[in-house]
Amino acid sequence: MYTLEVPILANVVVTRRCNLSCSYCNQYDNVSPPVPASTLRRRLELLAQLGTLAITFTGGEPLLHPEITTLVAEARRYGAICTLNTNGYLVTPALIEQLNQAGLDYLWISIDNATPDEASNKSLKVLDRKLEWLAKFATFHVTVNSVLGAGVRHPEDAHTIARRARELGHKSTVGIIHGEGGQLIQLEPQQRHVYARIQGERTEGVFWLAHYDSFQESLISGRPNDWHCTAGGRFLYICEDGLVSYCSQRRGEPGVPLEQYTTQMVVAEAAKKKPCAPFCTINCVQQVAYLDRIRANPKQAFEKIVEHRRRMDPSFRTPLGLRLLNSMFLEGKGSRLWTKAAILALGLRNLKPHTHCDHG
Ligand code: SF4
Ligand code: SF4
Repeated sequence: MYTLEVPILANVVVTRRCNLSCSYCNQYDNVSPPVPASTLRRRLELLAQLGTLAITFTGGEPLLHPEITTLVAEARRYGAICTLNTNGYLVTPALIEQLNQAGLDYLWISIDNATPDEASNKSLKVLDRKLEWLAKFATFHVTVNSVLGAGVRHPEDAHTIARRARELGHKSTVGIIHGEGGQLIQLEPQQRHVYARIQGERTEGVFWLAHYDSFQESLISGRPNDWHCTAGGRFLYICEDGLVSYCSQRRGEPGVPLEQYTTQMVVAEAAKKKPCAPFCTINCVQQVAYLDRIRANPKQAFEKIVEHRRRMDPSFRTPLGLRLLNSMFLEGKGSRLWTKAAILALGLRNLKPHTHCDHG
């Protein structure tokens, strides 16, 4: 049976340390040691016991963890979809091969600008070679995330990065750099223009566009989103100390050790109203909510997806895959397996923080 009692996604911090120091980031230090692999293995076991469907390894910079590839393999052994987000600096052909072998499903790489500046060194100039290696050697999906917002000196860079990512066969997304508590800082007209330009050139599938745009488009226009945040239940953020938090921007709430986290807590926290929801920019949590929205009212959700797509392209015809998924949901054959199939089919490879620093 499909159930609301299990986490869909957990972001697991494997080290707080980062090899960069982006000026807008509140998610790193340059001293913390990696969380011991044995501790992380235990956390993966506990998450599996809760029924968690997908794990994202994050940080800091998760590739600094000396046992990251064995941790990926461990998460996959539990049957979870496994993703990893990175600033890309440590990507090499040898590491890509190790991640292939470990069974990584998705990798997120975050690029902030075309050339390094005082705010960030995550630039296309430095990382382009890494993107080429990923295009050539990776058997997992790669998504390149660029950003718009405060601290990005040249908004047009986001377009350059998105175009290059697609040229190499990677997916691309655009995130919004947030203010305190994950809240929206209004975008300037030029930033909104760049966003519209990138969206206009998108080639990704219908689901990708539908779920990603609906939240993001409101925020880009400065409008609140009407949604229920299920963080603490359907989404978990596990910090380096093993505490469960709502997300990277509300660390310490509820702040319960994962060892003590129960299914009852998953249900109770998912149900709690979060006052920060309307202007929240944490995409991965919104995408988890999107999945539940589909499950709650599949017919309406699918109609909205098609309607949204037709607004963008009047000649749009519902593809066979969408019709199949529609019947799958409508027939109510919900199960753990179906949910995982939906995560994959719905492009929820997008289940990640929208900038590297946000980490859910
Ligand atoms: S709405 Fe949810 S995801 Fe967003 S900041 Fe609040 S708790 Fe975090
Ligand atoms: S944004 Fe990412 S790369 Fe930059 S300092 Fe933060 S964790 Fe490191």
